[in-house]
Amino acid sequence: MAKAERIDAVVVGGGIAGSALAAALAGDGYEVLLLERQTVYRDKVRGEVVNCWGVVELRRLGLEQALLDAGGTFVNRFVGFDETIDPETAQENALHLDEMLPEIPGVLDVGHPEACEALATAAENAGATVVRGVGEVNVTGGPNPSVRYELDDMEYEVPCRIVVGADGRMSTVRRQLDIALAQTSPNSLGGGMLVEDLHDWPVNVTSIGTEGELLYFVFPRDGARARLYILHGVDQKGRFSGPTRQADFLKAFQFRCIPGSEMFASATPSQSCAFYPMNDASAATPIAPGAVLVGDAAGWSDPVVGQGLSIALRDARSVREALRSHSSWTPEAFEAYAAERAVRMRRIRISGSVRTTMQMTFTPDGRARRKAYAKAIQADPILAGSRMATFQGPDQVPAESFDPGVIKRLFALQ
Ligand SMILES: Cc1cc2nc3c(=O)[nH]c(=O)nc-3n(C[C@H](O)[C@H](O)[C@H](O)COP(=O)(O)OP(=O)(O)OC[C@H]3O[C@@H](n4cnc5c(N)ncnc54)[C@H](O)[C@@H]3O)c2cc1C
Repeated sequence: MAKAERIDAVVVGGGIAGSALAAALAGDGYEVLLLERQTVYRDKVRGEVVNCWGVVELRRLGLEQALLDAGGTFVNRFVGFDETIDPETAQENALHLDEMLPEIPGVLDVGHPEACEALATAAENAGATVVRGVGEVNVTGGPNPSVRYELDDMEYEVPCRIVVGADGRMSTVRRQLDIALAQTSPNSLGGGMLVEDLHDWPVNVTSIGTEGELLYFVFPRDGARARLYILHGVDQKGRFSGPTRQADFLKAFQFRCIPGSEMFASATPSQSCAFYPMNDASAATPIAPGAVLVGDAAGWSDPVVGQGLSIALRDARSVREALRSHSSWTPEAFEAYAAERAVRMRRIRISGSVRTTMQMTFTPDGRARRKAYAKAIQADPILAGSRMATFQGPDQVPAESFDPGVIKRLFALQ
């Protein structure tokens, strides 16, 4: 086994959270090792929309340009085409995403593998050592943290001041540190597919809406591409499966509520079409002696609200600030991060439950409530808060918007 000198931080997992944090820490002058399992980032149908508040985090980390250079596009309009509203009214009621937060031009749509690659490269350029293709990783926390990893049949050990677990949902770092994870059962099932040759969809417009028993998302990308999602009830498991799933998916996407939706029939699927359970999870704590968890490793939110990338970037920024402002990297250094994350994730979970309840109750009463909801949130900023939080950030809307009484009022609309 090759044993290295002690360095500042070993980051396990080079996804959005780990690569962004490694880039920021290396830029601050720390000695950082970033370990990533994949040699080439693959499309696993993952987050591709950085919401407005995530763009703020990107800027604070100095990483916005890296994602723009990786093909990121700003989208400045949100149009809620939906079976409960005519298309003209939906367009008139479009949300101006470029007015959500000062100086933020909208949400940033970017390919997930391209974003990971760009951030890992940014980490390397900032001076981090980036090792791709690692095998088994073993982590020791406590007062003398260290990480052992396999690479090309060799074993390496790296002592460090802090281990960062950024290795996603199935985090081995979390497991090895004995941190429990509580998961909810799936709220719905959601699948996505990247398509090309979608020439008639405006690249500055994103859309989310419900028709029949399906919730859809359109997230445009440059080059006449878009990431399309469909979510349906858990009871419809397997609805899009088998060899015709891509064609079935595009056929289903010809929603009557979207003007010109025939365009989806002639789009070209460019990658696989994968479905996932949509649920929430939280780790008992993101902190252990000698270690800290960021991103999905610390718990995730239901992707129905598309917040995971912004959460990962906020985590990276918060941990960077904790490390900068404490000379001793004991668990106390991360207490403010853990406390803020707990409040943030609670609010995002509520936003997710509001979206699922409002947009995925596929009954006549559910449709009537969705219509009443659209009207109510235009008139009342407190009722709108749990939705606006998904664009502006959970800490940028009134805390009252997440009160159980307010959510009860929303669910009782008719
Ligand atoms: C279907 C779906 C759609 C989504 N859509 C959105 C969206 O539109 N917007 C949004 O903000 N969020 C979205 N999300 C959530 C978002 O994708 C995640 O929250 C985000 O990718 C989390 O980033 P991460 O870096 O924490 O984890 P990951 O992206 O999972 O990255 C973890 C990295 O660690 C590596 N790794 C794992 N184990 C090891 C190991 N032992 N050693 C070394 N490396 C390891 C992996 O290869 C990976 O590169 C979506 C999620 C799903 C499932």
